[in-house]
Amino acid sequence: MATKEGLKIHEVVKYPDPVLARPGESVMVFDGALKTLIAEMFESMYVAQGIGLAAPQISISKRITVIDTSFKKNPKDKLVLINPEVIDKRGKQVEEEGCLSLPDIREKVQRAAWVKVKAQNEHGKWFEVEGEELLARALLHEIDHLDGVLFIDRISRLKRELVLRRIRKLQKNGEW
Ligand SMILES: [Zn+2]
Repeated sequence: MATKEGLKIHEVVKYPDPVLARPGESVMVFDGALKTLIAEMFESMYVAQGIGLAAPQISISKRITVIDTSFKKNPKDKLVLINPEVIDKRGKQVEEEGCLSLPDIREKVQRAAWVKVKAQNEHGKWFEVEGEELLARALLHEIDHLDGVLFIDRISRLKRELVLRRIRKLQKNGEW
C-alpha cells in the first residue's frame, strides 16, 4: 500500500513480534532515506489511526518515533524524535493507554505527569521538548518502544496475565 505521493504505508506489527522486544539501534546517518522513512511513519500512523508510532512497530529496529497528539488538527503537534532520551520527569498520572501493536487492548498505566526529553530532529540537530498529560504519556510510551518495552510491561502481573490470556484466545480464533 502507498499514498498518492508514493510513500509506503508500512504494516504495524503486533505483539508478540520479537522486534517489539528488541532495543532499537541509534540513528547515525541523517540522509534523504531517513526523511522519507519519517514521512512514511507519519502516513502509516495516520492510516492505523494512531497518535504515536515507533520504528520497531514497523519492523525497523531504530531509535525513531513520530507523535501527533492532535491527529493532523494542529501541525505544531507533529513531533519527530530521533535517539530521544528522557532527561527529567515529575509527578504521576494514571490513565488508560492503548498501542497500535496491541489492538483493542486498553489498560490504566501509571506514567510521569510531566517529562522533558532531548532528541535529534531529522537533520541531526539536538532539541528539547517538554510535555504534560497526553503528550507526556505519548513521549514515554514511544520512548519505551525504542527500549523494547510495551505498556503491558508496566501493569500489574495479574492484569498482564489477563491481557496475555485474552490475546492467546484471539490468536486461537484467528482474530489477532
Ligand atoms: Zn505503542
